[in-house]
Amino acid sequence: MRPEILNPLFRPVTSLAGVGPKIGEAIGRLLGADEDQPRVIDLLLHLPVGLIDRRDQPGVALSPEGAIVTLEVRIDRHQPSPPGNRKVPYRVYASDDTGEIALVFFHAERSFLERTMPVGETRFVSGRVEWFNGRPQMVHPDHVVDREAFEKLPRIEPVYPMTAGLARKTLARAIQGGIADCPDLPEWLDPALFAREKWQSFKDSLALVHAPVTPADLDPAGPSIARLAYDELLANQLALALTRANLRRSAGRTRTGDGQMRQAIRQALPFSLTLSQEAAIGEIEHDLAAPDRMLRLLQGDVGSGKTLVGLMAAAIVIESGAQAVLMAPTELLARQHAKTLLPLAEVAGIRMAILTGREKGREREAILTGLADGSIDLAVGTHAVFQEGVEFRDLGLAVVDEQHRFGVHQRLALAAKGAAVDMLVMTATPIPRTLVLTAFGDMDVSRLTEKPAGRKPIETRTIPLERLGEVVERIGRAVAGGARAYWVCPLVEESEEVDAAAAAERFAMLQQALGPVVGLVHGRMKAAEKDEAMRRFVAGETRILVATTVIEVGVDVPDATIMVIEHAERFGLAQLHQLRGRVGRGAKPSTCLLLYRGPLGQVAHDRLAILRDSEDGFRIAEEDLRLRGEGELLGTRQSGTPGFRIASLEHHQRLLEIARDDARLVVETDPGLQSPRGEALRLLLYLYRRDAAIRLLRAG
Ligand code: ADP
Ligand code: MG
Repeated sequence: MRPEILNPLFRPVTSLAGVGPKIGEAIGRLLGADEDQPRVIDLLLHLPVGLIDRRDQPGVALSPEGAIVTLEVRIDRHQPSPPGNRKVPYRVYASDDTGEIALVFFHAERSFLERTMPVGETRFVSGRVEWFNGRPQMVHPDHVVDREAFEKLPRIEPVYPMTAGLARKTLARAIQGGIADCPDLPEWLDPALFAREKWQSFKDSLALVHAPVTPADLDPAGPSIARLAYDELLANQLALALTRANLRRSAGRTRTGDGQMRQAIRQALPFSLTLSQEAAIGEIEHDLAAPDRMLRLLQGDVGSGKTLVGLMAAAIVIESGAQAVLMAPTELLARQHAKTLLPLAEVAGIRMAILTGREKGREREAILTGLADGSIDLAVGTHAVFQEGVEFRDLGLAVVDEQHRFGVHQRLALAAKGAAVDMLVMTATPIPRTLVLTAFGDMDVSRLTEKPAGRKPIETRTIPLERLGEVVERIGRAVAGGARAYWVCPLVEESEEVDAAAAAERFAMLQQALGPVVGLVHGRMKAAEKDEAMRRFVAGETRILVATTVIEVGVDVPDATIMVIEHAERFGLAQLHQLRGRVGRGAKPSTCLLLYRGPLGQVAHDRLAILRDSEDGFRIAEEDLRLRGEGELLGTRQSGTPGFRIASLEHHQRLLEIARDDARLVVETDPGLQSPRGEALRLLLYLYRRDAAIRLLRAG
């Protein structure tokens, strides 16, 4: 139950004076509220993006382009729209000692403008100045008032991001109403930090941000916003720390095993493990041997050999007598994992089964029985592994292969709900540390930093699409000489259907040119058809595989040495890198041809050049991040720092580190949030909608 003291903040916004259903709806749109009804607290945490500073009166000629200024001007003349042509705006020319400015009005009512701006009188106008052909103008000033009215306006007024159907004054009044209702809350911040940063209470900080006195009050680095940002970061870190503490508490098994299965796997491998694979396995062994629950992220570029690390982790748990699952993001990938792992599992004596949505009827029954009675040690599959009706005798480890789709959030949530198992999440996305921190809190990370020995670099070339004929001819020759090639078709839009059509078309064209050696796989095909297409390619029955991006996630055919990507300019950098990573896996040198439709803009050109010049996934991801922003890397499209309304890693990185340590300390010293500060911190979790973590407290 939410503490009663918070009630005024959790009333619907329509409870505020002046906010009826219609305005309430507009506020909902503005806040992008995904829940039913926006609450007062949501409105209060909707901070201004800037302010109008009426003391900022630079004079017409000195007004900077784009700045919001206030000008004291004399109205000189009116220039109405020409009769019958309302497209030309109505202009009012006004001036001060420094120069002349045009006040511009579209679809204006003449009599109204003449009444409010009589020629010869002084007016105070404020709004955004634009310089147009060397002349200043102000389109639809925010205010045009005489001296008497001007004296009554606040000197400084916040500016909010707005939405249609919501007047600025209405919004401001609603927010002020909310602040008036805001109770004085007990302080949840660490007193030493609070004093050191010279912060003010939650309520005072909010009040100041919504009624700024100086521009510093809206500076992200200034004390008011910094405090609110810190609150948000602390709520995030505390919720994560509580979730994590809860997860850890609920495991409490130590798993060591006798090493026999691992030994058998090592001996069966035709290569030796890389140093970073060894290091990662060592870290995992250590985690599993400890009584705490493992929550580890395994980051490694495409082709760095994560799957094997996952198998070794499973082997440890299975040696100790428990079961393991390996989850892949797609059916195709699950089958491939199963196929590559099966021979190793066999030599190790690991009893393995595949379980996806496709196993049906008696086959499925047999697998479910095996998992329930423990006669199956390892299940490889899709999320179907965690569906209802699937029971394990003793599940000890979940290995989640995310590839570059970074959905770990949900998987962790899933683990929090369900089985208390150790978790290893594998991803090819080199997620920056700060993002790991905000998304998972203090998660442990292992990195595979080297590629397996003997890998040849991939030669990457960019080629304009006009030379398609040449490329087809070259591929034809290479294939006749024994090579195997992928041909990836453009991502037309976010629709498998359209992509599939493009691929089918290219398939027909290549088949006509090169004969029956061409195969096709795309997301619209039935699973059995997909498998068959993959099987034929792996077996060498087809030598060119035309595909949509379904193959980007983890397909492993070491004999393939050529990757053609059509319309490379339409793909993201990380995605191109993923696709390219499908070749260069064997001992033979590989080639990647990036076909593009010219002319390329500067950015597109630079992007392809980065890819041509680098095979370093970390560097490519950094560039990708720079070009696309953090949000997209995490799969959320909003700009700024994902999941945060106020905090931005650009400005508050330092605070994030403090919040992490703070949260960790709280969870260590007051795990049930029962001290006075703990009680206050519960309020914070409610305010920032992280109160799901409070339920864990009670459960734990
Ligand atoms: P990813 O990290 O992209 O998931 P995989 O696990 O699919 O990489 O491994 C890519 C390929 O490298 C596989 O064919 C795998 O058998 C091989 N491989 C893994 N580890 C090594 C190693 N230490 N030496 C040589 N080849 C390896
Ligand atoms: Mg993989």
